[in-house]
Amino acid sequence: MRGSFLILLLYCAHVNFAQTKYGLKATTFPEYVKTLKSNPEKELIDLQKLIPGIVLDIRYATTNNFTGEKIYTLAKAYARRPVAESLKKIQADLKLQGLGIKIFDAYRPYKATVKFYEVYRDTTYVASPYRGSRHNRGCALDLTIIDLKTGAELKMPTGYDSFTKAAWPTTPVSDPVVKKNRDLLIKSMEKHGFRVNSSEWWHFDFIGWKKFEVLDIDFEELER
Ligand SMILES: [Zn+2]
Repeated sequence: MRGSFLILLLYCAHVNFAQTKYGLKATTFPEYVKTLKSNPEKELIDLQKLIPGIVLDIRYATTNNFTGEKIYTLAKAYARRPVAESLKKIQADLKLQGLGIKIFDAYRPYKATVKFYEVYRDTTYVASPYRGSRHNRGCALDLTIIDLKTGAELKMPTGYDSFTKAAWPTTPVSDPVVKKNRDLLIKSMEKHGFRVNSSEWWHFDFIGWKKFEVLDIDFEELER
């Protein structure tokens, strides 16, 4: 009896949560689908479908990222419903100024966070796998602003994933255009419920992120 109970427990753990070596429980696809029934806010929304005209440059689906490896098999940007809806409002605000959004990363499967940590180890710039990233919760976005006419990115203090002090949003910038662009990005995001990361001008957390669990769902599972 006791043995079969244990087997049942192990089975449930296998179905619902990825067994992570860092002890964090990450929700897998079957459990995620179940939670959507009682809480549709938790749905991961395809940003390209919700926000027409949004530009994606998903660096982790290419080798152009700090690991030098292709981490994602699909170049997709998903975020939880309230996060995606807030971003839609930000895109609309920017459009009035002839500007738009380019996404570098959005929802990130937990297994990618583990990989980043094992490559880089410095938790100033990569999330600890013991806690997971807000990207794993579908509540963080890495992005910049583009000129809608040319598609060019506005000039910012550094490139994406520059692990330097120049990337901190509090670091003074001498170029007034760069300062204006960084301020515009931060103000646009703050207006709709996001907060900039203290060491990355491009990373924004959705303020309600605590309500959303860490997920380990592959993009392929969401695309089905
Ligand atoms: Zn980020």
